[in-house]
Amino acid sequence: MKHIDEDKIKLLMKLPQCSHQEFYAIIDKAKKLQRLTTEESAKLLAVKDKDLIDIIYKTARYVKDTIYGKRVVLFVPLYINNICINDCQYCSFCKSNKVTIRKKLTIDEIKEQTRILLERGHKRILMLSSESVNENDDIEYFVKAIEAIYSVNVGKNKVKRINVNLAPLSIESFKKLKKAGIGTYQIFQETYHEETYRKLHGTGPKSDPDNRLDAIDRAFKAGIDDVGIGSLYGLYDHKFETLAMFEHISYLEKEFGIGPHVISVPRLEPAYGSEISKSKKYAFSDEEFKQMVAVIRLSVPYTGIIMSTRETAQMRNELLNLGVSQISAESRVSPGGYERPDDHNEIKDVQFQLSDQRSIEEVISDLIKYGYIPSFCAACYRRERTGKTFMDLAKPGNIKEKCTINALITLKEYLEDFATPEVKKYGYKLIEEKLATISDNDKKVVLKFFENIDKGNRDEYV
Ligand code: SAM
Repeated sequence: MKHIDEDKIKLLMKLPQCSHQEFYAIIDKAKKLQRLTTEESAKLLAVKDKDLIDIIYKTARYVKDTIYGKRVVLFVPLYINNICINDCQYCSFCKSNKVTIRKKLTIDEIKEQTRILLERGHKRILMLSSESVNENDDIEYFVKAIEAIYSVNVGKNKVKRINVNLAPLSIESFKKLKKAGIGTYQIFQETYHEETYRKLHGTGPKSDPDNRLDAIDRAFKAGIDDVGIGSLYGLYDHKFETLAMFEHISYLEKEFGIGPHVISVPRLEPAYGSEISKSKKYAFSDEEFKQMVAVIRLSVPYTGIIMSTRETAQMRNELLNLGVSQISAESRVSPGGYERPDDHNEIKDVQFQLSDQRSIEEVISDLIKYGYIPSFCAACYRRERTGKTFMDLAKPGNIKEKCTINALITLKEYLEDFATPEVKKYGYKLIEEKLATISDNDKKVVLKFFENIDKGNRDEYV
């Protein structure tokens, strides 16, 4: 696979445990918010001593808090189509899966799903779709879907940012996505291990691993400068995937001057009709998963880490402490899934099973309980603090103040418009606590915005 030297990665995976001196030198570098080399990251991934792992965790928390503060961005996925030309062996939507109920939402149905999400307080959407035979049809549909999502209002609530997770497109099509107003373009390589990749993606356009890797290059070339990457953990060795992803990031940094805006760490979940999705061959423990996430936090400090509802509520809460900065809430991974109040995992149009089915209200309650500020902020994207501009602010830790102010504004809006009296009570208590920790100047700014919210204004930001 392009940009990925498998032999180099395999050698890095065999490195002996590093000395204490070396370990602390890497930790010191991470504390200075400096990007680690793949070799340094490999050494942290190889650590087995429990006390040293605790130091990795503590440092990951420090790096996350220094760059982003205590805010956690919330988003919700919106699946619009599950009729797919590809044959990914781990996914219920794969072409040869005869069990899955197929559906491509109409534009009116997309608006209806958006309305349901807005009524619950959501403001940030990740739009996902399968891939069809014809890219022109796909891009036309995606652009209409994006316009439809942005067009819906529920009272004063509307979608502020649509990110997308879509198959590779041409530069021309990416330009259309950008013009339609997307935030981040996200694509998972699934596995960076070429043999495994080819085995799992037999037919269809997705069978070419280099075309998938090149999608990020084409997105950058089309002017989309916020991109998201990741592997689907569980298809191959998790350390290999993580180190290969760091190599991919190094290539992007060298070639385009910036890396990914976000990294996702999805783990394989059982999918109807897919035996491979239930295989434990490359499963790894929760402890190893936590170490891996913390090492990603240290290795690429300027990047957001996304944690989806594939993980349990408990695991997601724990990972917030280790560097995760964005989470989804009350996800449904099927087209039209938000109309149904029933158990998500029981229905055969879903892409895979989910482990966290808490409502947005419950997710927000938990965030508040653990001292995090739930945030629906999309200010960076709207103020054009994207790509290099964002990274130049994030790298020295200068985005945190803005993140905190905007998170407090969006939390107050949520509490006023959507929260139950109980959540409102705890939410305001958290706001008081956080106001006491910020500078007098920032506090003045926040209180001015709060006055505006009390007057009925919405959707303001710095
Ligand atoms: N057509 C898009 C593409 O080619 O990237 C669609 C992506 S799909 C809607 C989003 C992601 O779901 C995939 O990239 C894959 O990593 C993940 N996924 C597929 N099957 C999964 C499973 N069984 N468990 C967890 N995640 C899965």
